[in-house]
Amino acid sequence: MKYYSTNQQAPLASLHEAVVKGLAGDRGLYMPERIQRLPKAFFDDIDRLSFQEIACTVADAFFGEDVEEESLRSIVCDTLSFDCPVVKVTDNIHALELFHGPTLAFKDVGARFMARLLQYFIKQDGQDRVNVLVATSGDTGSAVANGFLGVEGIHVYVLYPKGKVSPIQECQFTTLGQNITALEIDGVFDDCQALVKQAFLDQQLNEHMRLTSANSINVARFLPQAFYYFNAYARMKAIGRADQLVVCVPSGNFGNITAGLFGHAMGLPVKRFIAANNANDIFYQYLQTGKYEPKPSRQTLANAMDVGDPSNFARVYDLYGGSHERITSLISGATYTDDQIRDTMKRCYEDTGYLLDPHGACGYRALSEQLQEGETGVFCETAHPAKFKEKVDEIVGIDTEIPPRLAAFMKGQKQSIPLSRQFEDFKAFLLKE
Ligand SMILES: *Cc1c(COP(=O)(O)O)cnc(C)c1O
Repeated sequence: MKYYSTNQQAPLASLHEAVVKGLAGDRGLYMPERIQRLPKAFFDDIDRLSFQEIACTVADAFFGEDVEEESLRSIVCDTLSFDCPVVKVTDNIHALELFHGPTLAFKDVGARFMARLLQYFIKQDGQDRVNVLVATSGDTGSAVANGFLGVEGIHVYVLYPKGKVSPIQECQFTTLGQNITALEIDGVFDDCQALVKQAFLDQQLNEHMRLTSANSINVARFLPQAFYYFNAYARMKAIGRADQLVVCVPSGNFGNITAGLFGHAMGLPVKRFIAANNANDIFYQYLQTGKYEPKPSRQTLANAMDVGDPSNFARVYDLYGGSHERITSLISGATYTDDQIRDTMKRCYEDTGYLLDPHGACGYRALSEQLQEGETGVFCETAHPAKFKEKVDEIVGIDTEIPPRLAAFMKGQKQSIPLSRQFEDFKAFLLKE
């Protein structure tokens, strides 16, 4: 399968090239040339298949031409070492829980898959160690570091701003050791990002070591997220609630919902989608006006969705040929203030006993406001509420239990290397690696 760029200026790329490069040469996002529709028989029987069996079929449709069958199967099964269950919250609203992976957020699925696919390509062409550079403001670093942990042939450098990530987040990438090195930069997130960008452009450094990025727009991180939408459909079908399914996704950069839309294009019988935003309402406004107007991001309670120029909008737009009408006929929007998010978390807990995190709260609220007669809603619960323990405890008035695998990170020994925000220091460090 070839991949084209949404900007149409870069040459077609193989899967291997698209995965290693991340972003196309013309700064566009890679899209698969074809989206294969899965046969009716697959959907007829889907409720009898396991999550892993479903995921293997979906993975084969995207990657089957480029990855040998047995290897693809083991990449998928290794990636999905945890479940993504659907849990009933009210009579017509269910939560698709995506937080059962190692870092308790949905990004685990994409990061784990990408790590294993990259390893496959490296082994295939017998290349030296590949070095992944990733700048993080918190969550991406932990998903990528844990996704790549122990993967042979790959070393990960996580750059994070000193004193600007939460203690729980910091533990998730500084206590790992093995092939993960944490670099504590005396600066802000933008400095970390600038160091990574400059490293990719530095000739001497690139001759010294093979560098790649694990950015969230990478096709190998974004496409595998389709797996759990098929699984959600299967589990809803098994309980006879899949006929008029509405899927609601709390969205920031729109990678997660776009994977669901790809599933829909493959024939997944979802009636419609809802993109739930926090106060960063760029997509919501696009749906109302047909105009896409990026704005600086605003800080909110659901901070992983504080995005003012969602990168995957380009993919949504491309998928529907730029037609506002096609987009609005399938997707509706919602936008919530911090007060509304708080109110939703509190009320949902009081009424149903289900504990939402601030991101999932946007999804739950959009369904409770927008579901119509006969429809059943599934929203993505994108992170475990314990990841936001201080906020959740204060809002809901409880003492949120910390799951053992999260507590385990906090017991580990912090190991990080302090560096200034000067590129020369960063480069000198890497040249000694
Ligand atoms: C990254 C993230 C989101 C936003 O997902 P996108 O794919 O960027 O739309 C939502 N919730 C949580 C908890 C996240 O970490």
